[in-house]
Amino acid sequence: MSKTQIPDPQADGRIFYDMAAAENPCFGCGACCYHYRVSFYHGELDTQPGGFVPAHLTSPVSPFLACMRGTETGSGRCIALRDDGRCGIYNQRPSTCREFQAFLDDGSPHPECQRLRQLYGIDVVAK
Ligand code: SF4
Ligand code: SF4
Repeated sequence: MSKTQIPDPQADGRIFYDMAAAENPCFGCGACCYHYRVSFYHGELDTQPGGFVPAHLTSPVSPFLACMRGTETGSGRCIALRDDGRCGIYNQRPSTCREFQAFLDDGSPHPECQRLRQLYGIDVVAK
């Protein structure tokens, strides 16, 4: 288990991951924030009961799905990604972002994270 990635098990069996407030490889990266369409169930929008993702930063995808603005077609920058490479809505980010892992459970770098970093010319993560 990586010291910088903190698992947060959910009641429904999913595992979310928080990154340590101090040093972690996501600072200054954001490759996953401008590669995918970052879509999620619309019930996570703050316009829905119990929702938390700022709806004004999202676009509708379907009657039940929304995505972060800027990522509608993939290969677009999420509107919440700050210029310093950090998430501007970290505590309100959607489940999609919370489930993406920088590290596997054994603490080794996650291959998909590494693939994206290499794709965008960012140094790979050391264990
Ligand atoms: S690609 Fe990996 S290191 Fe970069 S922000 Fe995403 S999870 Fe973090
Ligand atoms: S909400 Fe935050 S973590 Fe999620 S894609 Fe946008 S900038 Fe990245």
